Amino acid sequence: MHPTKAYAAASATAPLASTLIPRREPTERDVQIEILFCGICHSDLHTVRNEWSHVMQTVYPCVPGHEIVGRVTKVGSAITKHKRGDIVGVGCLVGSDQSCPCCRENLEQLCPNGVFTYNSPDKHGTAPVTYGGYSDSIVVDEHFVLRIPPNLDLAGSAPLLCAGITAYSPLKRAGVGPGQKVGVVGLGGLGHMGVKLANAFGARVVVFTTSPGKRDDALRLGAHEVVISSDGAEMQKHAGSFDFILDCVSAEHDLNVYLNLLKHDGNLTLVGAPEKPLSISAFSLLFGRRSLSGSLIGGIAETQEMLDFCGAHNITSDVEVIPIQKLNEAYERLLKADVKYRFCIDMASLKAE
Ligand SMILES: [Zn+2]
Ligand SMILES: [Zn+2]
Repeated sequence: MHPTKAYAAASATAPLASTLIPRREPTERDVQIEILFCGICHSDLHTVRNEWSHVMQTVYPCVPGHEIVGRVTKVGSAITKHKRGDIVGVGCLVGSDQSCPCCRENLEQLCPNGVFTYNSPDKHGTAPVTYGGYSDSIVVDEHFVLRIPPNLDLAGSAPLLCAGITAYSPLKRAGVGPGQKVGVVGLGGLGHMGVKLANAFGARVVVFTTSPGKRDDALRLGAHEVVISSDGAEMQKHAGSFDFILDCVSAEHDLNVYLNLLKHDGNLTLVGAPEKPLSISAFSLLFGRRSLSGSLIGGIAETQEMLDFCGAHNITSDVEVIPIQKLNEAYERLLKADVKYRFCIDMASLKAE
């Protein structure tokens, strides 16, 4: 075990502060990574503040961060996929049983024994729970270590590991492509990746937003059209015309309005996580034989496929890079949606602590 610099929350109400955490020595199947950048995902904030306690209690100290990009510093003796000096990424998962039906289908994200990058029981026993990427370094089973295409900006690549795959997986699964009309609801961290990716898949992309001020930015990011969702008449013009809608909104909103915009057999997939249960009229689904789904990140093979796709199309996230000393301020701004479109921590700033 070796002590590693990190930023951790000591309780649900404490600010994140500098500390030392233990990391294991790499086993023969492990890759040790010096973390260069780590994106800030809204899940980090929910976990730090124990707001998802009904699903998973937060164990303190809590070190969040699951949008990790770094450089390999050491590999175990059995590692052939990665070598010292490689630029790699780690997303939301660092372990799974690799034997259940989900894992056998490369759907590690659905594994009942999946190990999340932070706040999951640490099977190696280094600490009570896994510690995430707000840290100098991390040691990860090679199966969960991804290659970052060399042409991509490193800070902008970090959010691909969570926001990127979260948007990519349902678009891919829906077969989104040329000739199709795709809606993206909400233009935040997830939504802006949805727009870039759906555009790169060749679809006609329509952004739904409540903020007229986001129109120009949506068009810049790759939307072909922007609809202000509070304008009933404008919404009605699109009734029954969408093949697929990606709903990235975490706040309360009326899903029926969007379901009615789908063509027959169209699908709306939720990737945002509103706090309260949503109310759905059965008729929104019955008419047009429409479907409603959810989606959770993606498997490891699919995450690599997404990174390679982003490499080929030169897609990264729009990031505001911050030093780790501005972390608590960034959390406050995140609550006000005051970021375009993702905060990313430059981990060099942690070395100065
Ligand atoms: Zn995330
Ligand atoms: Zn499994």
